[in-house]
Amino acid sequence: MAVRLTHLQKTAVIAHAQDDARDPARPSECCGVLVGVGDRVTSVFRVTNVDYSPFTYTMDGDEVLRIQLEADRTGLEILGFYHSHLNSDPVPSKTDVRKASVAWPGAIHVIVSLKDPRRPELRAFRIEGDETVSVEDIIEE
Ligand SMILES: [Zn+2]
Repeated sequence: MAVRLTHLQKTAVIAHAQDDARDPARPSECCGVLVGVGDRVTSVFRVTNVDYSPFTYTMDGDEVLRIQLEADRTGLEILGFYHSHLNSDPVPSKTDVRKASVAWPGAIHVIVSLKDPRRPELRAFRIEGDETVSVEDIIEE
């Protein structure tokens, strides 16, 4: 399986990760929503990480709800989410898997790692309700 992103969307996700990681007051993981249809992302939305933590994220529920309503209104859907790892590989943590399986079973999760700051790395996973994690190819278009 795969998720299709444009180069611009990929660049936007990396830029968000770098912006939040470099926040001098409170460096944080970033998070956001991938909206689209099928396996194709049409829009990427930044969401506030209400944890303001470099180790965890929790998406602002009101912001996600607004994105959901707008997607519904325009015939699109929330395909998944993205978040960053400041110092670890782009692989879902146990906490990531547990929370994702409960909140959005079956959704795509793109993780951007800033472990090597000069070479941000993106990987995508699908996390099912039973906490099964499968790798998804990222196809850049
Ligand atoms: Zn994570």
